[in-house]
Amino acid sequence: MSQKPVRVRFAPSPTGPLHMGGVRTALYNYLFAKKNNGTFLIRIEDTDQTRFVPGAQEYIMDALKWCGIMPTEGPGLGGNYGPYVQSERKEMYQPYAEQLVKEEKAYYAFDSAEELDNMREQAKKMGMPNWQYNSVTRTSMRNSLTLPQTEVDRLLAEGEPYVIRMKMPRNRDIRFHDIIRGWVVVNTNNLDDKVLFKSDGMPTYHLANIVDDHTMEISHVIRGEEWLPSAPLHVMLYEAFGWDCPEFAHLPLLLRPDGNGKLSKRDGDRLGFPVFPTDWTTAEGELYSGYREKGYLPGAFINMLALLGWNPGTTQEIFTLDELVEAFSLDRVSKAGAKFDPEKTKWFQQQYLRAQSDEEIALKLQEISENEYNFETLKAVCHLMKERATFVQDILTDGAYLLARPTVFDRETISKKWKPETTAVIEEWKNELAQINEFNSTNVETAFKAFLERKQMGIGAVLLPFRLAVTGVGAGPGMFDISAFLGKDEVVARIELGLKKITEILNEA
Ligand code: GLU
Repeated sequence: MSQKPVRVRFAPSPTGPLHMGGVRTALYNYLFAKKNNGTFLIRIEDTDQTRFVPGAQEYIMDALKWCGIMPTEGPGLGGNYGPYVQSERKEMYQPYAEQLVKEEKAYYAFDSAEELDNMREQAKKMGMPNWQYNSVTRTSMRNSLTLPQTEVDRLLAEGEPYVIRMKMPRNRDIRFHDIIRGWVVVNTNNLDDKVLFKSDGMPTYHLANIVDDHTMEISHVIRGEEWLPSAPLHVMLYEAFGWDCPEFAHLPLLLRPDGNGKLSKRDGDRLGFPVFPTDWTTAEGELYSGYREKGYLPGAFINMLALLGWNPGTTQEIFTLDELVEAFSLDRVSKAGAKFDPEKTKWFQQQYLRAQSDEEIALKLQEISENEYNFETLKAVCHLMKERATFVQDILTDGAYLLARPTVFDRETISKKWKPETTAVIEEWKNELAQINEFNSTNVETAFKAFLERKQMGIGAVLLPFRLAVTGVGAGPGMFDISAFLGKDEVVARIELGLKKITEILNEA
């Protein structure tokens, strides 16, 4: 590992909302920086103005904030290496491109879009569908390598549009080390002469990325695997400028739950889970759902993402952010793509919900329900329901019968499980309940056991009908706890009402 202070960056392009793969990249950068007492910064790569989407940058910052993984340098955050938005650094790049031309490591190319299209067409006709501007073809194109110097000077002076292209050497093996993938070797014959600087006065991603990583003193480039094919060019650029190369770590792809291909923006809502951290509405009004709005806790989302491609080397699954920082290392990131698991994601959410105190959840419920219920009541409802809920709002929906008498009864379970003699048994049990002096969970349970014993009946034959009468549904928290929560009078009243309702349902059937 390099001796330089650790400085890492998350470098999204503001071309739309941040996919959860992007959040994972940001997370691993964050964890790596914290673990190594380094700096995590964000740089907005907006050199491709044609793909710029208004609101995307704000979305990205807001999403990182929600996730709790804010960088310490970046637009609006300060830092000594700014500006942190590439379009605001526009003036910086041209001199670097010109320097490479002067040193004959790059060249001006004047070919128009039509000329390039023509070349591609001709090549296609000759059976070469993938024409490239490279060390071979450049000799027959209109550039500063083929045109006489006087002509080049004239074109430049007359303001003829041009781009600056990298002059890829022929037949050289470029070797670089990737922390996750080990040694990577690529021959330059397989690389084209990428455009570094465009006629609109903007650098391309490649040039801007290298100039910025160098000037921002980035020590480690941690980014998605889709950038691995660009890395040899980047290595060549560092060499061309005579700069030290940062260390590289290319993270594995996130795959669809069936392992069949990359998890794409479109998959999420199609497959029934969000792929974005927070909701995003397109200019056309199309909504892409986010984890935040679905009710996920940021800790659960981050915990799940951390384990998507990295493992701690132990069986531990639940990690606070601090614990992740402590445990994280790039050498435990796998090369193989990581399959996204929506069910496991829900499991994380359940664990995080359970770990919250009744007070914390009750406060949220109070907000959701706009103070409709008493706080102590909500706290007790949370206590009863949280083990069974996935999202905070489930407590209100699944536990609605705790806050109000049930109006809906589970017809299916009733018609399946209610026996002709059940009504009389529940009537009798209701009378037993009415006799209990101190109406708490233990006393209700004791009375219930005694009742079963006396009636010589099994638990199921009485407990389920009791539950159906009181709550309207066939499953939920312990009935003795529910009874204690509702209180004797309410339980007795509900059984009376419930039996009426159930009789109606049975008569209809
Ligand atoms: N702007 C690139 C992106 O959108 C960044 C790639 C990199 O980190 O070098 O992902």
